[in-house]
Amino acid sequence: MTTLLTVPITPESSEPDEIVRALADAIAAKQLGADLIEWRLDSLFAGAGDDQGEAASLRLIAESPLPCIATIRSAAEGGHYDGDDDARIAHIERLGTADSPPRYIDLEWSTFSRSANLAQKVRLAVDHDKQQRDISTSLILSAHDFEGRPKDLLRRLTAMRDEPAAKVIKIAFAMRSIRDNLELFDLLATRDRPTIALGMGEAGILSRILAPKFGAFLTFAALNPQSTSAPGQPTITDLLDRYRFRSINKATKVIGIIGYPVSHSLSPDLHNAGFSAIEFNAVDLPMPIAPGWEPFKATLNELTAHETLDFTGASVTIPHKENLVRLAQENGWDTDEQTARIGAANTLIRTDDGAWQIRNTDAQAIAQCLTEAQGRDSLKGDSVAIIGAGGAARAAAVTCADLGADIRIINRSPERAEALIADLQPGVNAHVATEDDLRASPPDIVINCTPVGMSTGSAPNELPLTEATLDALAVNAIIFDTVYTPIQTPLITSAEARSLRTITGDAMFVKQAEAQFALWTGKEAPDGLFNQVLAARLKAQV
Ligand code: NAP
Repeated sequence: MTTLLTVPITPESSEPDEIVRALADAIAAKQLGADLIEWRLDSLFAGAGDDQGEAASLRLIAESPLPCIATIRSAAEGGHYDGDDDARIAHIERLGTADSPPRYIDLEWSTFSRSANLAQKVRLAVDHDKQQRDISTSLILSAHDFEGRPKDLLRRLTAMRDEPAAKVIKIAFAMRSIRDNLELFDLLATRDRPTIALGMGEAGILSRILAPKFGAFLTFAALNPQSTSAPGQPTITDLLDRYRFRSINKATKVIGIIGYPVSHSLSPDLHNAGFSAIEFNAVDLPMPIAPGWEPFKATLNELTAHETLDFTGASVTIPHKENLVRLAQENGWDTDEQTARIGAANTLIRTDDGAWQIRNTDAQAIAQCLTEAQGRDSLKGDSVAIIGAGGAARAAAVTCADLGADIRIINRSPERAEALIADLQPGVNAHVATEDDLRASPPDIVINCTPVGMSTGSAPNELPLTEATLDALAVNAIIFDTVYTPIQTPLITSAEARSLRTITGDAMFVKQAEAQFALWTGKEAPDGLFNQVLAARLKAQV
């Protein structure tokens, strides 16, 4: 059974202009690839006269360009309808028995189960085995909880499954952690009829994207970012283009981008385009995990143990790169020697025999960028100044030291720079430095490993080094900015103005992603593809 891509459309009033606008949205949703429209009719019955609301609803349903769900959602479950339930059921009855009825009517279980009388009225308006009348509308019985997992989730589910008039069962609740998605997937595995199981909030994104993998009846997607009807709902374009929704099936492998926050990461764009190009059945999607060792450990241990998720690997970013190394040590996962020395890893891989490995492809990418720029395999004789002492700086310091360079570290907090130096192998020529030191003895290579210059950071227009220090560099010096949003950072602009050589952060980002791709798929990423996708995405963001 195909999982239906459903776009909710919420007209704000029953005014004719608003109905025309809502129908235009439905046509746009169809053109973008939707299968089903959910007409959220709550507002049509909230303010205007009921007759006008009902007439507008009947028009929307009759002129709907796609099969539709009619929903008059109660305020108690996240909608706008705060009127009388008897009146609401009477509307639903008339919609269900109209000349052009909706394909489905959605009603909350909490309302349906409130009285035998209400339930009976609903049964009269929908299709089921004992229906005497010629009715084609089917009932979706739904339960929503915006606070979190309902304590009585399983009892509620059983009660809903006991109702023979319910053709589809829907469960949606706010996710506290991405681990909650796993319970939804397990519920879908026990379904006895078409079932919708969705997680609300940023952490619920797995349930929305992976709905076809677990055989969900439908998933919801917003027409555009402004029109979401529940927290965490992706857009239809994101689902179809970014996450290749139509190609997801039971056998699809799941790869995550783990960090916090991660919703704006461009990793899924690159990797999913690559999977498509080499016909590798996998999807890369955001896996937000709250900061801290405990949430990271608990989540990773559940994801790696889950039997049907087919979790195959992950990119790991701020703030969990160090946590990945710690977890690998605890769990006995294979860690290469350089990654162990860096003390931070950005890649998790499940091997064909089910074992787990961690790697640091940032380090590989930095080495590639620098050796290509220098046209030689080593950095012997080069003096490298690294600005920053966090995860990227650690990868840069270990890599440059392994390639034979002398290292100087400049960091806002000098004690962190000291700690980095102390962790480098004995014999490496490495020191904590100041800008005065750099001016007195200019380095051949400067690597910015701070977020200074990043458009979404706290210092988007600043330089990580003073102009005076840049002035002191020799003309053949290399400025390597690891920041890639934007590519043209203030540091790169200043370096270009001085005719210095530059390496931009997108080069590193693409190389570390290509290395991850090869580790997960066993194949090279198609030549130039990640560069193209990244350039297009960054252009679209401007
Ligand atoms: P991190 O572990 O949080 O370290 C950040 C470092 O930057 C710390 O040393 C911090 O100093 C310093 N810093 C932060 N804000 C600063 C400011 N306003 N002024 C001066 N120093 C500041 O982060 P990370 O993982 O190393 O990542 C750092 C940057 O590297 C990221 O922002 C990203 O742009 C870039 N990166 C790029 C790629 C790529 O593929 N191109 C990959 C990884 C990272 P304190 O020690 O004093 O806090």
